[in-house]
Amino acid sequence: MNASSETKARPPATKAADFDAIVIGAGISGMFMLYRLRELGMTARVYEAGTDIGGTWYWNRYPGARFDSESWSYGYAFSPELMQEWDWKEHFSPQPDTLEYLNYVADKFDLRRDMQFSSTVKSAHWDDAANLWSVTLDSGKQTSATFLFTAVGILSTPTLPTIAGRDSFRGPLYHPGRWPHTPVDFTGKRVGIIGTGATAIQAIPEIAKQAKQLTVFQRRPNWAAPLHNSKISKAEMEEIKTRYDEIYAHCRQTPSWFIHQADPRKALDVSPEEREAFWEKLYCEPGFGISLGNFSDILRDEKANAVISEFIAKKIRQRVNDPKTADQLIPKDHGFATRRVPLESGYFEAYNRDNVHLVDIVNDEPIRSITPNGVKTEQREHEFDILICATGYDGITGAFDQIDFRGPNGVPLKDVWAQGQPRTYLGMLADGFPNMLMVLGPHTARGNIPQAIEHCVNFQAALLRFMREHDHSRVETRPEQVKEWTETVIKAAEPLLSMQVDSWQTGVNRNVEGRSVRRVLGYNGNGVAFRKKTDEVAKDGYTELVFR
Ligand code: NAP
Repeated sequence: MNASSETKARPPATKAADFDAIVIGAGISGMFMLYRLRELGMTARVYEAGTDIGGTWYWNRYPGARFDSESWSYGYAFSPELMQEWDWKEHFSPQPDTLEYLNYVADKFDLRRDMQFSSTVKSAHWDDAANLWSVTLDSGKQTSATFLFTAVGILSTPTLPTIAGRDSFRGPLYHPGRWPHTPVDFTGKRVGIIGTGATAIQAIPEIAKQAKQLTVFQRRPNWAAPLHNSKISKAEMEEIKTRYDEIYAHCRQTPSWFIHQADPRKALDVSPEEREAFWEKLYCEPGFGISLGNFSDILRDEKANAVISEFIAKKIRQRVNDPKTADQLIPKDHGFATRRVPLESGYFEAYNRDNVHLVDIVNDEPIRSITPNGVKTEQREHEFDILICATGYDGITGAFDQIDFRGPNGVPLKDVWAQGQPRTYLGMLADGFPNMLMVLGPHTARGNIPQAIEHCVNFQAALLRFMREHDHSRVETRPEQVKEWTETVIKAAEPLLSMQVDSWQTGVNRNVEGRSVRRVLGYNGNGVAFRKKTDEVAKDGYTELVFR
């Protein structure tokens, strides 16, 4: 596309907005959004709180951090040239390599030119008369744009435990989502870690290799299964490159846009021997097959779920030497894959080491406080040199709540969403907030995140192109379409066992006020249906939206 002719055809400016578009966040979403905005000839500025690009992969530098999705199905697909240039080194890329990849992308497309780092967006207020978003940064600087894109991530607001004395700890206290940029040396150190989610499950085996002593404080255990990561040889990478079209086309046809898809059989319709053999195979294969490629009913049918849960429990008992520890590591309050399954590399074996000690803080040793020396339970004080709170995130809507978004008449987005379900159209436009487009907003399809991002950004870029062609400068939702989409999202979630379980996916985080009631926060229907719906909306000329 010719950039100069695009510039001439830019959407008509109303009052003098500083930019055509402002993008909040320079992670995978914000980087690609900027690329597409430039293609449209629009002026854009990306504001990023961190000192550089990368989002999740900029912040999460903790030991063991890596993709648990196949690297070669998890990169950007918009540029065949980029795909041919980049060599993934491992099937499940470690954080440093992933950040290197994103830096390569930023350099290749000269993205930093339109980015401003160390700049946290504090507020974004819609000016109805001027038809623009007025944005204020933490520095106090004000700026404006006709369109506002949120590329804020779904797990970008770390939450610390609300334990008494938390700030009194003398040594360093880290959250993995705000990990230091220089590696932490655990040699000879006594380390405590609170939390056993996907993050801790990746970090624990790595820290255990170095630390003098590692104590894990577990509230609820999580089901986990082996990742089976391995290196990618040069020859293998060359072979993968020849299949990219096929791989990505296949992902687009699966419900979650991963390479895996459910087996149409039902778990209890096959013989116990056949079931066991199938699960043995899945357990020994790399990646998410054990949750996404399993029998179709394990996520919906309690009886089927109980049988797979027992299979995984048996594996934990086989891998952990001490029967009491093994039992403590087996979840009793939720079934396998009803929370997002962490994929691990030697997690269970870490508990066979003499320097690793599991503390069950529900049944054995409730935590009373954090002290200058460590963690005090009802039984004793555990002394540490380093304390890690791998206590998760205020997921999905949390990052939105950090910014004072106000629509027409000064209505705060936070208040609107606090009243129950977020109200969106396709998870991309918030109801009542004109010209605000969300990449990975609540109620959108997610699954394979980079593929979801690309789909979402492409939809939004096409919408902007349509607006330009029709001389529109304002887009907003239709109440009846928001209602219909919200009902679709809720209905899709109803049959899922995961909706009966507290997790970030159901919006529960007891470290955050007002996050104790379960909500539906994502579109859990079929990704293929979501693509079809969005393609049809575009083909029909976006009649489900209102333009001015
Ligand atoms: P998480 O799954 O929410 O886990 C947080 C952990 O901290 C849980 O074990 C939780 O216990 C515990 N916790 C929270 N507050 C506590 C308190 N006050 N006292 C004691 N324990 C407390 O968070 P996460 O591990 O950071 O993972 C979040 C998501 O990030 C994952 O589900 C995944 O989607 C993503 N992730 C992906 C990767 C990857 O791609 N490889 C890696 C890491 C994370 P309860 O369970 O009892 O609440």
